[in-house]
This record gives sequence, C-alpha cells and structure tokens, in this order.
Amino acid sequence: DKNKILRQLPKVDRLLEEPESAELCRQYGRERTIEAFREALDVFRNQILHGEEGLEELSGKTKEIKPERLQAWIFDRSQTRLRESDTSSFQRVLNATGVILHTNLGRAPMGEHQKSAVMEAMWGYSNLEYELLQGKRGHRQSHYKDLICQITGAEDAVAVNNNAAAVSLILGAMAKKKEVVVSRGELIEIGGRFRVPDVMEQSGAILRETGCTNRTRISDYEKVIWEETAALLKVHTSNYKIVGFTEETSVKELAQLGKRHGIPVIVDLGSGVLVNLEKYGLAHETTVQEVLKEGADVVCFSGDKLLGGPQAGIIAGKKKYIKAIENHPMMRMLRLDKFTTAALEATFREYLDEKNAWANIPVLQMIARGEEELRLQAEMIIKELGEGGYPGRITLEKSRSAVGGGSLPGEEMPDYAVVIEPKEERAEELSCRLRRLPLPVIGHIKNEKVWLEMRTISAEEASLLANALKEALFHKKRAVEI
Ligand SMILES: *Cc1c(COP(=O)(O)O)cnc(C)c1O
Repeated sequence: DKNKILRQLPKVDRLLEEPESAELCRQYGRERTIEAFREALDVFRNQILHGEEGLEELSGKTKEIKPERLQAWIFDRSQTRLRESDTSSFQRVLNATGVILHTNLGRAPMGEHQKSAVMEAMWGYSNLEYELLQGKRGHRQSHYKDLICQITGAEDAVAVNNNAAAVSLILGAMAKKKEVVVSRGELIEIGGRFRVPDVMEQSGAILRETGCTNRTRISDYEKVIWEETAALLKVHTSNYKIVGFTEETSVKELAQLGKRHGIPVIVDLGSGVLVNLEKYGLAHETTVQEVLKEGADVVCFSGDKLLGGPQAGIIAGKKKYIKAIENHPMMRMLRLDKFTTAALEATFREYLDEKNAWANIPVLQMIARGEEELRLQAEMIIKELGEGGYPGRITLEKSRSAVGGGSLPGEEMPDYAVVIEPKEERAEELSCRLRRLPLPVIGHIKNEKVWLEMRTISAEEASLLANALKEALFHKKRAVEI
C-alpha cells in the first residue's frame, strides 16, 4: 500500500534529532545535511510511486517497511552523497589499459622534474614575462625557445595551446585566403573533431587537394602550384596506415619543389618524436630533427604525445615564418599559461641529454620497459593478492600494449597483464567497482575478464594497484540499498 508507506516517511526535523545527524551537521553543515535528507526522501518517494524494485531489501519477507531500516538507508545515502560532493571531480587514476598516451586519461603523465617545475610556477610570482638581468618586460616564449632550437636544429620556435591550434595558427599566418596543397592521402581526422579540411577552412586558407588516397607523387604537387599557392602541407597520418600499393612524397622532395617555386613547406608531424624509437622494437618514427634537416620550413607537433610533456603545440622552423606566427592576433588567444610554460621547459631540458629523457620522461620510460620487468611486476601484484578468497580466478597473461594517442598505428609492444575472471559477478560489474575506488583503476575487458596491463602502471604505482585491488576484491562492502 503505497500511501501507507509514504505516510511512514520520517520528517526532516525528526531526522535532525537523531544522534547521527549531529555528526553530519558538524562535518558538512546543517543546510547541506538537510538538503541531503530531502534528496534521499525524494528518491525513496519516487521509488515507491514509480517502481517496486529494491523495496524488498528494506521490507524483507514481511513486505513491511521497517522504520529503522528506512532511516538507516536515509542516513547511509545522505552520508555517501555528502562525501561524494566533498571529493573533487578531477582525480588521479591508475591507467591499466596498456595504452600509454590515453587521451581520455590525460595523455602524457609528468615526471619528477616536470612536476616540480610546475609546482615552482604555482607557488608564487615568477619571471614568466620578465627579464631578470635588465629588469624589464620579457617574453614567455623565452623560457623554451632556445632549448627547442638547440635540440631540434630549428632557427626559431614558439608554442601554443595544442597542436590543433598550432596547425590553425600556422595556416592563418602563412596562407590566409591562399591555397595550401595537401595530398588526398593526408586529409585525416584525428578525433575530437580535428579534421584537416575543416581546420583549413576555419583558418582562412583554401584547401587544394592533390594525388590519390594511396598514391601522391611529387608531380601531383607540382601540377597544382600556381600564383595563388601559399604553401605545401604534409600531414602525418598519425592514427592509421595506408598499406599495399602506396606512394607518398618525402619532405625532402617537397622541400626541393617548394624551393624551386618559392613556396614554404609545412609539416604537421602529430606526435613529434625527438628520439629514436627503433631500439625498443617500434617502427621508425620520423623525428622533428629529421624533418627540419630534410628542408621543412615549419614543423608542428603535440607537447603531450610522444614528446611526453604538457598539452601544447610546438611550432619550429625558419625565423621569418615563426615571427609572422608570433605576430598573428590569434597568438594572444592561444598562448601558454605559466604552468604549461614551466612544464614544457622542464620537458625540453630533459632532451638536452637523451639519456635524461629516457630516464625521466614517463612516456619514454614506459616504452623502454623490458618484458621481464613487466612480468615480475604482474607476479608481485598477484602474489600480494594471495589467497584473499576472491571468488574468481586471478592469472598472469602475456599481452600487447600500444602507444596510442593517435601515434604509431598498428605498432604494439609486448606486455604482461593481471587478469581477473570473476565468478560471482560480471566482468563489467567488477570493472565498474574498480573505477569507483578512491584511487580508480581503469583496465579493459576481454573475454568476460578484466585485464590490467602492466606497461602503463609504473613501478611506484604497482603497490598502489595491489592495494586498490585488495580493497575491491576482498572488502566488497555492500551499502544498504533500496
Ligand atoms: C594529434 C594530432 C593533432 C592534434 O594535436 P593536439 O595536440 O591533440 O591538438 C594534429 N595533427 C596530427 C597529425 C596529430 O596527430
């Protein structure tokens, strides 16, 4: 009898008289506590009016709702809600997906030096735009400009908010209302609505397609050049591969062609690698240095892909083009903030000596990790879980992980995974519980099992992961539910 149940609902004033309320009021304030009670009562009322589900838990076999159980439920729910509203939405997670550059998980994590540089920048005032020697206004780009030039061999460099912004800014500054030639094989979509034709249109440049999807020769570029051509653009096909009967034009050939016609060559490299990845079994990824050496006039790449730094778009190349880009009105809208500036400088500083980059930049560390280390880490975690009595199987499996972030498509690295096959719940339920831990764990599901990949769990994080798993697997606390 719905009405009878509704009449039994406690009044907020009565709930406030209970001893539990005093503690909630003390912690969260009276108004928020009242609000939480009201919300809980509303939810309950709706359940009664619109559905019977869950009512059994409260009413038991007698089909009678016991006032104490209802009250316990209200307190439990209110407390959970209040606690949730007090924890920040943005939080650290453990990435056990095996995808190193996971765009949804914040792409590149920072290392010690990068982190402390950001902390310094946060702490107090800084010389962000101030020349300490002369005591006058300076430039925020000065903190990383020379470093980038030294490392990449570029004449000049500048950084903006991300690589999408970099592409747009370059086109706006170098090719407004003029034609930019792009191969049909490179009219890509990166994701998050970044589509080369759209970015071009937005920037005011006119797209001049040439060649075919699978083959574009230097003659294809040459035949569309005329007086309205402002630049030749080469876009790294970051997230897919064209295989089979293919041909693409090298930066070197494009640069020679550009030189003959007095037209600059722009390269959107996407990931922007500064080191050789081959020694870790990955395919050769063209480096920024190589592209510049081959004669590109301007190259741009992401800060938070394989470079392993903060979100940014780095533009490097010939001085006259970089100057034009720096003087473009959009520059003011796309400039880096002080935290990113600090992190970017710290990132490039590691590359001054490649050894430091491999040792200190997490993205590179993860790529460099050996199979044996990953296997031992998985073993350690499984051993720690021990005989905890989880109803299910926990095994060590060989697996594969990827760089991700639209880099190195099709390239995989060997990995090991802690694999959990639940018996009393679905893999999706377990996965959901892992995501809701105080330190959320993000894995992936394959064959009704939850896979936790080791390559993206650092040595320091391994014990955090083990503890998180213990909590999820062995202390499965069930809140009072309705
Ligand atoms: C990733 C990528 C972009 C976009 O870079 P963001 O830094 O994510 O804005 C642009 N072009 C290419 C080729 C890319 O791979």
